[in-house]
Amino acid sequence: MTDWIKFMGTAGARFVVSKQLRSSAGTWCFFQGKNILVDPGPGTLKSCFSGDQVLNPELLDAVILSHRHLDHSTDVNVIVEAMTHGTFNRRGYLFAPSDAVEKYEPVVFSHVRSSVEGLEILKENGSYSLDSLYFETPVRHDHPAETYGLKFKLERGTVSFITDTKYSPDLIDSYRGSDLLIMNVLLKEPFPDRDIKHLDLMAAQKIIEAIRPRLAVMTHFGLTMLNNNPGLLAEQVTENTGVKVVAAVDDLIIELDRVL
Ligand SMILES: [Zn+2]
Ligand SMILES: [Zn+2]
Repeated sequence: MTDWIKFMGTAGARFVVSKQLRSSAGTWCFFQGKNILVDPGPGTLKSCFSGDQVLNPELLDAVILSHRHLDHSTDVNVIVEAMTHGTFNRRGYLFAPSDAVEKYEPVVFSHVRSSVEGLEILKENGSYSLDSLYFETPVRHDHPAETYGLKFKLERGTVSFITDTKYSPDLIDSYRGSDLLIMNVLLKEPFPDRDIKHLDLMAAQKIIEAIRPRLAVMTHFGLTMLNNNPGLLAEQVTENTGVKVVAAVDDLIIELDRVL
């Protein structure tokens, strides 16, 4: 079977999540025979069993938290419980930054942390493996919680997730070489009077223009993106950069052999 990514949810900001204007479920990746769930936000477990295609969390090989914010982590405990078959079978891996699992008020409960086969702490310049599947966390993002993006080095190409972050030129160096680039683009424009540590559309365009992936996918939308037709905005970025850019919708599946 080809590798694929399912965007179970595409909600990004507090009000989009709390009103469920888009689903806030996570992103399921099937890469080189491994099932990996990234950022199980609110509603992820429910979404696994909705729609035409059931994704059974008992089959997961790993759960990755990019950071501890609620829209990325609310369902992590129930999902890991499912992965470990009710915590009775020590199986599967959990990858998370230290402030999500170690310090004050960890978002993953201790009985859940101790139920996995391996708990690995994400760090800047980290590289990790699940058998023959490799990924890296090249840079710590500029975001209020300890946050990392993901760079999967697949046999067919490099698939990167630029998760929540403020723009920095470091992002371009860190994610250079990505063939498929998935980016959390929360804002259409920066707020003039507030330092919101998220990408806006122009920052995303700057990164796309510099990295020039074969496909860029925007997701994790806030209200200003949703109110302005993300699909149309993606078309504009395609025109401006000459790189194919799409806006994710809930339940979008990308089959990697079609794009890489
Ligand atoms: Zn977020
Ligand atoms: Zn966040």
